[in-house]
Amino acid sequence: MNIAELYELYQKHPIVSTDSRIIIEDSIFFALKGENFDGNQFAADSLQKGAAYAVIDNPEFATDPRIILVDDVLRCLQQLANYHRKTLNTPVLAITGSNGKTTSKELIAAVLKNRFNITFTQGNLNNHIGVPLTLLKMTEETQIAVIEMGANHPGEIAALCKIAEPNLGLVTNMGKAHLEGFGSFEGVIKTKTELYDFLRENNGKCFVNADNELLMKQSAGLEQLTYGKGEGVQLKGEPEDSSYLLTVKILFPKGWLYFRSQLVGSYNFENIMAAARIGLHFDIDPLLIQKAVEKYTPTNNRSQYIQQGTNRIILDAYNANPTSMLAALQNFEKINHESKIVILGDMLELGDYAQEEHQKIADFVTAQDYNEIFLVGPCFCQVETGTKAKKFEKIELLANYLFQQKQMKNNLILIKGSRGIRMEKILNNF
Ligand code: ATP
Ligand code: MG
Repeated sequence: MNIAELYELYQKHPIVSTDSRIIIEDSIFFALKGENFDGNQFAADSLQKGAAYAVIDNPEFATDPRIILVDDVLRCLQQLANYHRKTLNTPVLAITGSNGKTTSKELIAAVLKNRFNITFTQGNLNNHIGVPLTLLKMTEETQIAVIEMGANHPGEIAALCKIAEPNLGLVTNMGKAHLEGFGSFEGVIKTKTELYDFLRENNGKCFVNADNELLMKQSAGLEQLTYGKGEGVQLKGEPEDSSYLLTVKILFPKGWLYFRSQLVGSYNFENIMAAARIGLHFDIDPLLIQKAVEKYTPTNNRSQYIQQGTNRIILDAYNANPTSMLAALQNFEKINHESKIVILGDMLELGDYAQEEHQKIADFVTAQDYNEIFLVGPCFCQVETGTKAKKFEKIELLANYLFQQKQMKNNLILIKGSRGIRMEKILNNF
């Protein structure tokens, strides 16, 4: 069956299932392969549970006339998504970058929802499977699609662009993340630039943080819709000096508006500015942009501000890499508080750069005047820190240590680390 024929079936059954445990009635089941499973084995089961068709790539499992055999299920899903995207004349905004993609995407979606029917990436489904699945959720009614694109190897953003064919793009930043897969920082730059390259070749436009020279340079030659602190930008804003939650002021044609966000971390200034610039592009009333940004509360341990007893905690246990770690520490530095505690967990996926990057972060924190510094994880355990920091191989060991201490009171605590370290486990110790 070719893609056009499959598309005809999809139009009659426009819901895709990929998990045989939660089959949606009358959907088409795509038998994808994971590390520990082979979807082919669940094709018959999916039909029994109500799927209309099942797409597989292993002929051994072609046991039912409703089973469609293709060469490669994943490629077929991607081709179908691209076919669908091509039939719709909907603007597609792609978001990539090293840090802040999901936060920006959620803010942008909150802003655009005010006026448009939008389809946007759910959670963090930003890879070679998540992107096609999101595209296949678009309908005739969709007015704008907002697609998060993640990558940890060169070429991946180019591949996702070929599937989603965006005409608008946002690169949040280019930082040191996933260095293991990218090989080097140059690899990161090259990969994020693939979005600009696609837009350049296809008459697209990009939203750019004009304060970021690297982004401006890499997107040169494209139509740049700018925002930032500097002069000459199309949308100008400034972060206010606030203690915990970030306030941003933005200059709209009618004057300054203050956005009192629920976000911690001055780096969220860029994410808010991007959302505001995009809202402006789509002609959304600045007061509605403000309301949407002010209402947005992050989930999933992303830069959350928590008041627990007498302690104030900034919990950022969702992910960590050298760039976001430094951004979080610099933000923490700016906050005035008598007793500050820093608790950092390993930054994963750094490959050969791990030792060097953990050492840099350790040097940075030990140079500050903190009440306590706790470092958690095998990488941090190997760095030089003198006597200023206490090191623990695992988060459970730190939790034990804290349990034996007298209860800590009246501190401002920053907790940040890669998700694999599970930093949130010590929350109850305060
Ligand atoms: P992922 O690669 O997991 O999809 P992401 O790019 O979607 O991550 P978010 O989930 O939005 O990023 O944010 C994760 C963390 O990155 C935040 O908790 C914060 O520490 C940091 N972060 C967010 N925005 C920025 C930014 N503009 N600059 C630097 N760090 C940021
Ligand atoms: Mg994300």
